[in-house]
Amino acid sequence: MTRYIDNKFSDLFNRQKVNQFKIGNSTYKERIKKLEALRNALEFSYKQKIRDAMYADFKKPFLETDLTEIYPVLSEIKFAKSNLKSWLKDQKVGTPLALLGASSYIKYEPKGVCLIISPWNFPINLTFGPLVSAIAAGNTVIIKPSEMTPNASGVMADIVTELFTDDEVALIEGEVEVSEELLKLPFNHIFFTGSPQVGKIVMKAASEHLTSVTLELGGKSPTIIDDSANLETAVKRIIYGKFTNAGQTCIAPDYVLLKADLKAEFTTLFKSKIAEFYSEDVKSSESYSRIVNPKHFGRLVSYIEEAKLNKSDIASGGSYNASDNYIEPTLIFDMPEDSKLMTDEIFGPILPVKTYSNIEETVNYINSKEKPLALYIYSKSKKNIDFIMNNTRAGSGCVNHNLLQFLNHNLPFGGSNNSGIGKAHGFHGFEAFSNRRAMMKQHTLGATDFLLPPYSNFKQKLVDLTLKWF
Ligand code: NAD
Repeated sequence: MTRYIDNKFSDLFNRQKVNQFKIGNSTYKERIKKLEALRNALEFSYKQKIRDAMYADFKKPFLETDLTEIYPVLSEIKFAKSNLKSWLKDQKVGTPLALLGASSYIKYEPKGVCLIISPWNFPINLTFGPLVSAIAAGNTVIIKPSEMTPNASGVMADIVTELFTDDEVALIEGEVEVSEELLKLPFNHIFFTGSPQVGKIVMKAASEHLTSVTLELGGKSPTIIDDSANLETAVKRIIYGKFTNAGQTCIAPDYVLLKADLKAEFTTLFKSKIAEFYSEDVKSSESYSRIVNPKHFGRLVSYIEEAKLNKSDIASGGSYNASDNYIEPTLIFDMPEDSKLMTDEIFGPILPVKTYSNIEETVNYINSKEKPLALYIYSKSKKNIDFIMNNTRAGSGCVNHNLLQFLNHNLPFGGSNNSGIGKAHGFHGFEAFSNRRAMMKQHTLGATDFLLPPYSNFKQKLVDLTLKWF
């Protein structure tokens, strides 16, 4: 650590730069072997250490750690293992007749030396997930995990040190200043996961070196419920999506837009499902996480206090306990539009619900805000589902459920504009860490050979024919 700080990481960076061609020329089998070693660490040798670290960081239940931190990385590895051979093959593409005699293909080459900056909310998943793509694509990598989950970062540092030499993959723990120093270096690609605010800082720094970026950002993800929906199923699934990880999930439903006449039934179902999932005494439930630190706890409490001050309708929950950063699952109806709860990304276990009368209102409301990372709708009406999907824009979505879109590696994962730039997962992640080199092979005689100077009437005729027909 000190060794890196003293020379501002440039020594480490330069060693990776020197090593990049060796790593980039590694075979498919060699890359799979590395991914297998990572799989082995996560599934076996470090599994309990990861669970303990996540519990120490914010009391994340073991089962949730297995399901939302370890499993997504294992399945990313499995997917890469099944597909990497074909991803690495040169991709033949057609060639226009005007270029007769030539053949064309896309060669996927590694970007080179990459930086992964990851957040605290799913630290293992969102650090090692991109790492799998970076390794599959043949890059060297420097990782800067979040300072807010030091236990998770510590275990990841141990895993990386055990599996890799630091001229291939290095993990640097530390505060924001470490990220700031790293961002000064001329990386070939930066894969950042975090808030839109910090995403802008990363993009600005990247522009200094014209470094390409993947920005996996956040925002307010809406959930619409119309009057054709199966309300019980909708409430159950929304509660799962919202309160897993205590709401600290980028694609959690941020707020609900609810058909007004469903309010009473929604509230009753909400209370009964919370009790079913987490018991009548949620704070004693071993299935419910805590808020990551006092800073975020204070931010979320200020939302609840603002609701109390406004005399808003807190229909369920509203209690909290600073001694262990506990916030009760909380349901609040119709907060003022300018309240923090309705303007900021919530990233915690508070669910504001805004009621509507006509489905058109939901679209107008969503489109008055930044493009969300995810948009969900609970409905049996094809007309309503199509109307919502055709008249809004978002990074991803799910009809009649939430979060699940993250788990299908065939789907690109990422936002649009304010919620992100570029995509992750499966081939899309491999592509993010690859340069698509455009290649053409010209055979001994090609059509263009007939068009070289000196120009003549005959050549002009050939050009005329080309303009007309090819
Ligand atoms: P954050 O943006 O505060 O921090 C993310 C990373 O950036 C951390 O490693 C941090 O050390 C670093 N960082 C912070 N300030 C920096 C600065 N000034 N310069 C350089 N680096 C800096 O985000 P967070 O609080 O860790 O995570 C929550 C945010 O991440 C939410 O907005 C959430 O929606 C988003 N998120 C997005 C995804 C996704 O896949 N799209 C996944 C998880 C979280």
